[in-house]
Amino acid sequence: MEYVTLNNGVKMPALGYGVYLVSPEECERCVSDAIETGYRSIDTAQAYFNEEGVGRAVARCGVPRGEFFLTTKIWISNAGYDKARTSIAESLRKLRTDYLDLLLIHQPFGDYYGTYRAMEEAYMSGLARAIGLSNFYPDRFVDLAHFCEIKPAVNQVETHVFQQQKAARAYLRKYNTQIESWSPFARGENNLFSNPVLTGIGGRHGKTAAQIALRFLLQSKVVVIPKSTRRERMAENFAVFDFSLSEAEMREIEALDSGKSVFINHQDPESVEWLLTRFQ
Ligand code: NAP
Repeated sequence: MEYVTLNNGVKMPALGYGVYLVSPEECERCVSDAIETGYRSIDTAQAYFNEEGVGRAVARCGVPRGEFFLTTKIWISNAGYDKARTSIAESLRKLRTDYLDLLLIHQPFGDYYGTYRAMEEAYMSGLARAIGLSNFYPDRFVDLAHFCEIKPAVNQVETHVFQQQKAARAYLRKYNTQIESWSPFARGENNLFSNPVLTGIGGRHGKTAAQIALRFLLQSKVVVIPKSTRRERMAENFAVFDFSLSEAEMREIEALDSGKSVFINHQDPESVEWLLTRFQ
């Protein structure tokens, strides 16, 4: 496994396992399979309703807690200092752990400054080893990073070959904040798994389009957390450290960037309304 070092010195695996859209019923089995495959970093969220499944799998697997890197995220309905504080305690209970390795604000809506203060407090008291953000576009990221005390260690944003976040990354670098990709496969949109550039490069390395997509992000210093409920794909997605892409191959993949989301624009009012009313 390769690691990145966050701005507070904490080491984070460059590859983890994400559990968005993994049902509460299936989550323990999936995370157990991922752990057996070798994954030690698990990305969940309050809004995925599967923190308990993650907690059970980690508690029962026999691997010491200290070898894991557990991330969860505070949802909009828990925004604000008091609610966020209560929700952190709830997440810890569901995940069966005394501390989180990474705690993120899931969406930049509601009283997220209050949320961040509760997270800073959790960080200071040892309940979270690192804190950060998700879905903060450069304008909101710079504002929060400027006014907070503990600088965000991570910003988890949609990042894949079709949305490479080139402009946003310049701002993250300025504050020494690590970019983490959500949907590293664009969830299969735009036929990513049969994209001719990715399959062509894959053919030369004996790798699949999925592996090329992940390798591209890893070589671009982006942390990745691919999701699969299928054990063989978990293994496929984990086997990305035994080859590297040439400069020319990296340039070829860079040209796939559209600079736009394939899912959602967090600055579009209708999308914001949709997010605000989700899970209520
Ligand atoms: P993703 O990882 O880009 O793609 C997952 C999809 O690809 C699933 O349909 C999966 O199907 C399929 N897949 C996985 N490996 C494959 C392979 N090797 N070959 C072919 N198909 C494959 O999408 P994601 O789940 O949206 O993103 C990953 C993680 O990022 C999430 O689980 C979550 O932890 C995080 N995330 C965060 C946010 C946020 O707002 N912060 C938003 C979205 C996601 P099967 O399961 O059937 O294999």
